[in-house]
Amino acid sequence: MTTTEQAPDTMSFTALPPRHRPRRMPAPGRPIVVDVLAALAGLGLGITIALGVSAQSLSSISTVPGAITAVGRMTGLLAGYAMLVTAALSARIGPLERAIGQDRLIRWHRTLGPWGLYLLLGHVVLITVGYAGLAQTGILAQLWQLILTYQGMLGATVATLLLFLAGITSYKRARRRFKYETWWSIHLYTYLALLFAFAHQVDNGASFAGHPLATIWWTALWLGLLAAVLYWRFTVPVIRSLRHRIRVAAVVRENDDVVSVVLEGRRLDRLPVAGGQFFQWRFLTRGAWWEAHPFSLSHVPHRDRMRITVKNLGDHSGDLAAMAIGTPVFIEGPYGRFTADAAVNPKVLLIGAGVGATPLRSILQDLDEHADVAVLLRARSREHLVLVDEIADEVERRSGRLWEALGTRDQVRITASTLRKALPDVHQRDVFICGPEAFTAAIAAECRRAGIPDARIHFESFVF
Ligand SMILES: Cc1cc2nc3c(=O)[nH]c(=O)nc-3n(C[C@H](O)[C@H](O)[C@H](O)COP(=O)(O)OP(=O)(O)OC[C@H]3O[C@@H](n4cnc5c(N)ncnc54)[C@H](O)[C@@H]3O)c2cc1C
Repeated sequence: MTTTEQAPDTMSFTALPPRHRPRRMPAPGRPIVVDVLAALAGLGLGITIALGVSAQSLSSISTVPGAITAVGRMTGLLAGYAMLVTAALSARIGPLERAIGQDRLIRWHRTLGPWGLYLLLGHVVLITVGYAGLAQTGILAQLWQLILTYQGMLGATVATLLLFLAGITSYKRARRRFKYETWWSIHLYTYLALLFAFAHQVDNGASFAGHPLATIWWTALWLGLLAAVLYWRFTVPVIRSLRHRIRVAAVVRENDDVVSVVLEGRRLDRLPVAGGQFFQWRFLTRGAWWEAHPFSLSHVPHRDRMRITVKNLGDHSGDLAAMAIGTPVFIEGPYGRFTADAAVNPKVLLIGAGVGATPLRSILQDLDEHADVAVLLRARSREHLVLVDEIADEVERRSGRLWEALGTRDQVRITASTLRKALPDVHQRDVFICGPEAFTAAIAAECRRAGIPDARIHFESFVF
C-alpha cells in the first residue's frame, strides 16, 4: 500500500488504541415496517378512490362526455396518489431504507413512476375530450381554453411538462446519454412539479370543491410527504454532518485505479452505521460541493476515523485521489441493507470483484466473532485485488478461508460446481456478493444453482 499524501502512521487503523465502548449500530431493519406501509398505502388508495367516487353524481355521468369527464377526474386523483407514493419511495425515509434497502426502493420507484405518468396522460386527454363534448367545441380549442382560463392551469401545465421530462430522461436508453448530474438536476424539478400539481388539484378538483374533509385528507398526505423529505433528506444529514464535523484525514493509494480516503470526525463511533452500508458523500470543495456520490465504508468507524475505498470510474471518483487533507465532508445516510445482520446463520461466504471488496471488508468487521467465514476475491490480477492484505489478516484471525480468483473471464469461471467443490457446505451459507452488475447477477444465479435459497443471497449493486 502506498500513499499519495504523506500519511502519518496513525492513519492505519491498527495503530489506533482499541475502542473501549461498543460502536453505535443502526436500528435493525424491521420487516413489519414493510407490511404496515403496504397496508397504509392500500388504505390511502381506497380512501382516494372513495373521494373520487363520492364527488360524482348520477346525473353528471348520465351522458357520454359526462362519463368521460368523471373517469378523467378519477385518473387525475390516482395520478396524484401514484406520484405521492413514488416520491415517498425515494424520500430516503430511515425505517423504510433499513427494512427494504435503497436499491429495492429505487427499483419500486422506477416501476411505479411510469404509471403515474400514464394516469396523468389519461387525465389530460379524458378531461379535454370530456369538456369538449360537454361544451360541444373542438378538442384543441378546449385544451387551449383550459390552459389559459382555468385557475392554476398554467402551473399544472408546467408540472405536466416537468414530470414528463423527468420520466423520459429516466428511460434507460435516454438516461445513458446524460451525465448523472444532468439527469439528477432534471429530476429535482419534479418536487416543483408536484407542488404545482397539488395546488391545481385542490384549486380545480371536483373532489375537493365544497368537500373540506377531502381537502384536509389530501393536504395532510402531501404535507406528510413534505415533512418526510425535509426531515430525512435535509434535517438528519445536516445534524449528522454538523455533529460529527467530518474531514479528509488522508488519501491512500491502493493500486493504479483505486484510492482509500480516510475520514476523521468527532465521535464517529456514535454514528449509527454498519459495515457494508454506504453514505452519499459531498466533498466541500469549490468544484465538488454540489454533487453527492454514494460510496460504501471500507472500514467501520473506529473512535474518530472511518474510511471509504474508491475506484476511478469518472471525473468525481478520479478527483478523490487529489482531495486535499482537511477538506470538510457533508454526509447523507447511512443507507443499505447489505450488512452482517442480514445473515440468517453463522456460516457466510463473501464474494467480491475488484472494488466490490470494499463493503465486504467492513462487513467482515461486524460479523460475529464465531462466524465461519469464507471469502472469494475476484480480479484480473493480484494488483487489481482491493484491500486484500487486510481481508487476508481478518480471515486468518478468524481461521477462515480465502480464495483469490485471478485471471480473465475465460480463465476463471465461478460456477455452482466450483463453489461446491471449494466449499462442500456452500448450500448452508449466507452469501454476500458485491461487484459489477453482470458479475453480481451471474454469481447470484450460480449460488441459487448451488442450492442457496434467495433469502440467504445478499448483494449490493454499485449502480442505481
Ligand atoms: C450503493 C452504492 C455504493 C457504492 N460504493 C462504492 C464504493 O465503495 N467504491 C467505489 O469505487 N464506487 C462505489 N459506488 C459507485 C460510485 O458511486 C460511482 O462510481 C461514482 O459515483 C462515479 O462518479 P464519477 O463522477 O466518478 O463517474 P461518472 O463518469 O459521472 O459516472 C460513472 C458511473 O457512476 C454513476 N454515477 C455517477 N454519479 C453518481 C451518483 N451521484 N450516484 C449514483 N451513481 C452515480 C453513473 O451513472 C455511471 O454509471 C457505489 C455506488 C452505489 C450506488
